[in-house]
Amino acid sequence: MTILHDEASIRAGVDALAVRIAAHYAGREVTVLVVLRGGIVFAADLIRRLDLPVALDTIGVASYTGAVQHASGPRLTSTPQIDLRDRDVLIVDDILDTGRTLSHLREEVARRGARSVATAVLLDKPARRAAPIEADFKVFSVPDVWIVGYGLDHHDRYRNLPFLAALDPEAAGG
Ligand code: 5GP
Ligand code: MG
Repeated sequence: MTILHDEASIRAGVDALAVRIAAHYAGREVTVLVVLRGGIVFAADLIRRLDLPVALDTIGVASYTGAVQHASGPRLTSTPQIDLRDRDVLIVDDILDTGRTLSHLREEVARRGARSVATAVLLDKPARRAAPIEADFKVFSVPDVWIVGYGLDHHDRYRNLPFLAALDPEAAGG
């Protein structure tokens, strides 16, 4: 494992992002929709730094990986409890990779009648983008390597690491 960002670096990045998000919403209530499960750690830190009224909910999504790409896109595994109609929704996820997940979630939230939809990600991996989407708010750009820690997993492990690390290719393959 190679550390990409330590705790201090993440804290500084999340602090700066929170200031930008608070300025963008300027006193309005924002409904933070955390994407399960990778977005949990980032969202937990981010919302505690947001100087705004915040409503919090979650959405679960399973992305299909490998050779098969389903026309229907990623599948929802759980839906928000809050009625999103007329809300300013900020979707918070761990990483924007191909972009399929966030494109799908943006549409889903819009379909539920949100007044506005924006996206915040901890990481942006632009090398693999397949859907035409950029994050409205992001902390770090990363190269095309498999990243773990601070919410991101490898076979359900490492989400609890307080730093962000690149997994060695041999380990990531297994
Ligand atoms: P998408 O390809 O749809 O933009 O991203 C789908 C999901 O793939 C992300 O939300 C994240 O859960 C996962 N993902 C993409 N790249 C990485 C990575 O480097 N490490 C980990 N742990 N998950 C990733
Ligand atoms: Mg995810």
